[in-house]
Amino acid sequence: MKELLVTLVVFSFWNCGCANRVYRTSCLRVDPKTTVKTAVKTFQVYGMDERERSIFQSAISQLEPEVQKSVKTAVVLSAIDDYFQHGTGMSPGHCHPKTGDICQKRDYDDPMIIWWHEATHAWRARLPSSANDEWEKIAGPVYVNSYGRDRTTEPDYPKDAILREHGSSNHDEDMAIYMEAIYAYVYLDINKFSGVDWKDKRYIQKIRFLYKWGGISKGTLQAVLTLPIQAGFDAGFDIKD
Ligand SMILES: [Zn+2]
Ligand SMILES: [Zn+2]
Repeated sequence: MKELLVTLVVFSFWNCGCANRVYRTSCLRVDPKTTVKTAVKTFQVYGMDERERSIFQSAISQLEPEVQKSVKTAVVLSAIDDYFQHGTGMSPGHCHPKTGDICQKRDYDDPMIIWWHEATHAWRARLPSSANDEWEKIAGPVYVNSYGRDRTTEPDYPKDAILREHGSSNHDEDMAIYMEAIYAYVYLDINKFSGVDWKDKRYIQKIRFLYKWGGISKGTLQAVLTLPIQAGFDAGFDIKD
């Protein structure tokens, strides 16, 4: 068993293709199959024990109705399940955007954050192309398609209104990282915006975009915009509407 695990770890590094992971279209389900209910819908969930169901329930309930509706099923995978089902090993979570299935591996430190991130991928895949064009227009030509780079060293970020190196991959990752940062700030009191230069209006424009398209509530928008306001910057918008 130990040897198998070592082989899997080595293989995982070799097989670290984030694009493959994100764009796979199917998701095999692991037992047990149960449900998690929110005010918006009942989710089929797989592989979750009671504690994991409760974490998923908290995370998904905090998301806006349209984001919740984008998610079809949620799966918690062990490292070995993940390898055999997806052939990956590097990433704590992934989304199957076509189906809206979201998966994460067991025992990561921030399971709530991973659910918020992956649910955002499912939601973004269902936004109209005009919305995606709008995000690209705000962001500008900043994406470097950096999937697969070393995500442990991020000396240069935040910059260019990108919060973390992984967000520089493409606008899908950029948006998911904004959503996880916003929800982490509001619900977990974790500030992933530290070091942001709020003079660059694109940070606020991206946050506003998420509100405009239904990704965050007005209360969440107001809460997160206290950051630039406290830092002495005009949030640039009337946050009452
Ligand atoms: Zn999956
Ligand atoms: Zn992602």
